[in-house]
Amino acid sequence: MRLEVVDNIPLNISLGEFIELKKIRRVDEKEVQKILEVGVSLAKPKALLAFTNVKRIDGLKVYVGGEHMFESKILSDRLRVGQPIVIYVVTVGGDVERKASELAKESVIKAFVLESVGDYLLSKAREHVKGIVECRLGGKVSSFAPGTGRGDLFDIKQQEVIFKMIEPWKHIGVNLTESFLMVPRKSSSGIFAVSEEYVACMYCPRKCENRRKPFVGTYMGVECDAHV
Ligand code: SF4
Repeated sequence: MRLEVVDNIPLNISLGEFIELKKIRRVDEKEVQKILEVGVSLAKPKALLAFTNVKRIDGLKVYVGGEHMFESKILSDRLRVGQPIVIYVVTVGGDVERKASELAKESVIKAFVLESVGDYLLSKAREHVKGIVECRLGGKVSSFAPGTGRGDLFDIKQQEVIFKMIEPWKHIGVNLTESFLMVPRKSSSGIFAVSEEYVACMYCPRKCENRRKPFVGTYMGVECDAHV
């Protein structure tokens, strides 16, 4: 397994795109612009990538790198033995969310906009890193992230495997809580692999304003009605 830290990640942002994507309404555009600039000045985007491959698949168990094992319906179905994959953690650091908490004392709306800026900047950092991985792996990649959707295809507890494998706290300052959440919150983790398109939203029936793809139904053989 080869680890690589990516820093100086360019954030290719646009005010219009931010307002549309995050559905920012009833806030003056100049104010939004100012908050976006604050977010950009505080963000410290970094990523940790681990280049490895799939060693063995046994039922739902997917063995990667040395002796690390993920247990996941989606991974065991979509990955193939020998396939190169990249385990990743991306973050914009903790300053944006800290500033948003401070701002909440002055204005809840401004704090909400800055929180949304943090999410937007994280998505831009992740997009850049995904592009790097696609060049290296030679094809379009899908991202498989623990806990996305209803978590039934890749359980959030599997974050532990990622964190044990690549120890992101040592390299880019991202920690995992006992409830498997990342600190700083504006961080994202998962596995990039060349695969038929997979976006968790496609198999997630939730009513959700952040949906990126229409719901196409239950993923092969996964019982869903217990959770709906
Ligand atoms: S629809 Fe919403 S909750 Fe479901 S996976 Fe997509 S973003 Fe997550």
